[in-house]
Amino acid sequence: ALAAALAGVSGAGATRDGHAVALLANIGGVDDAEAAGALDLEGVGLFRTEFVYLSAQTMPTVEEQAEVYRRVLAPFPGRRVVVRTLDAGADKPLAFANLGEEENPALGRRGLRLCQAMPEVLDSQLEALAIAARETGADVRVMAPMVATADEAAWFAARVRAVGLPKAGVMIEVPAAALRSRHVLEDVDFGSLGTNDLAQYTMAADRMEGELSDLLDPWQPAVLDVVAAACEGGAVTGKPIGVCGVCGESAGDPYLALVLAGLGVSSLSMAPSKVPAVRLALSVHTLDECRELAGRARAARSASEAREAVRAAASAELTAI
Ligand code: PEP
Ligand code: MG
Repeated sequence: ALAAALAGVSGAGATRDGHAVALLANIGGVDDAEAAGALDLEGVGLFRTEFVYLSAQTMPTVEEQAEVYRRVLAPFPGRRVVVRTLDAGADKPLAFANLGEEENPALGRRGLRLCQAMPEVLDSQLEALAIAARETGADVRVMAPMVATADEAAWFAARVRAVGLPKAGVMIEVPAAALRSRHVLEDVDFGSLGTNDLAQYTMAADRMEGELSDLLDPWQPAVLDVVAAACEGGAVTGKPIGVCGVCGESAGDPYLALVLAGLGVSSLSMAPSKVPAVRLALSVHTLDECRELAGRARAARSASEAREAVRAAASAELTAI
């Protein structure tokens, strides 16, 4: 029954009443890009670029970077590719740009903070991406990781525009940015929620600590409240908010996808294998039904109650398979 149901829907993601929710892939290199490019997907919602830098002993030249980016972008002419700029830090150290050891790498000079200390690293990455975008015709949108304030977002957007890339965004993975999203989004074009870090920082639970996985569950009502706050700022500013990372095993959970759509996100990025089930789940619910499910999840007092409440209330067309 599942295979037949999955085969019954294809193409762009949408709710039953036609509200678009773009379905995108998470990729981390050339092989992933080639595999995802061949699939029925609207593009890429998270291209993690760390592999270009973490193994390099010296800063790669703009041309060396552009060559890698050409290969990643080549399968996506005319399709969206959201590129996350370098997300290095004390736990993912760069040989050529090391700011030293830190007591708490997750709270340290990582992501955009590291690029603010070494802007030449970010500028060369952006330049290489602009070259590869022009040559491949991919619809490249770049976003910065670990943004906490509106000033950081504005700083990043100015550097993106300086190289001629048309769209700049921010990852919303720090609760401060989610709570203040109407200001953080002012100078950028979009936001993208990363719930791995958003859950870690909301719940004060190290994402690498397996013993804390219950706290890191993306169904935690507190995490859903923070996501909702981010989406409210998106609605006020008219800026789209997507989701590009959902913690651990739950990535591509079709029930969570309904809740996220109900909270207002307009794209979902995941491991490509999860896309068909998410597409099907959306196609059998209206946007109002998704909103209603989101309300049920946020009214629950625990992650497991939220999950159960949504499963129980979701369309029988989904629960039957
Ligand atoms: C996230 O934090 O949710 C995310 C998508 O980024 P990463 O997992 O690479 O930190
Ligand atoms: Mg992250």
